[in-house]
Amino acid sequence: MMNVTVDGKEFFLDVRDVCPHCHQSTSLQVLQAVKSPVSNECAAVLLCRRCKRLVFADLLLLNKLLGTDDTKLIALYPNPKDLEIPAEMDLHYPTFYELYRQAHRAEEENLTEIVGAAYRKALETLVKTYLTEQFPADAPAISTELLGNSIARIEYPRIKALAKVAAWIGNDETHTFKKNPDLNVADMKNFMVALCHLILAEKVGDEAAELVARK
Ligand SMILES: [Zn+2]
Repeated sequence: MMNVTVDGKEFFLDVRDVCPHCHQSTSLQVLQAVKSPVSNECAAVLLCRRCKRLVFADLLLLNKLLGTDDTKLIALYPNPKDLEIPAEMDLHYPTFYELYRQAHRAEEENLTEIVGAAYRKALETLVKTYLTEQFPADAPAISTELLGNSIARIEYPRIKALAKVAAWIGNDETHTFKKNPDLNVADMKNFMVALCHLILAEKVGDEAAELVARK
């Protein structure tokens, strides 16, 4: 947790330690904080250790009667846009998560010509990691075959459909001729977000089924 000293008192900052520029966690460092002379408003300047960009936080200093002094965030600049995919994906599929994070960053930087290809790489990694968990004996084949062949192995029909449509769009974004001109990167992301939720739901469902089987 980040804290800041204002007028000799220590306050915990009501700011998530995730950089809104590069979405890296535990990266923010407090450079300076200034309290308003006429109110309890406080402005803090934070530096991201990873991307070296500045973040500005507008906070209210709260004087609690008991316990530690605290703050309440009023506004953060830039406004953090969270990744659309669930944070648990970072635990289960860290390589995918990092690729998705980089694709998302490319999108925020308006690198429109490479964003789709970046999301496609993330998708391919997710599908192949997911299948390798399910069919460890087939890992060498899964890692080298075409993405379409990997998707054909998926047993759960909804996960398969989501992966298939997302891959169609990803392929269109990677090649010069579009087979599905009515679908775009925003559609691809919608399918990928749903895919992440279903894959996580399947994981939790499998755990529940194991508990039931043990009874
Ligand atoms: Zn950063």
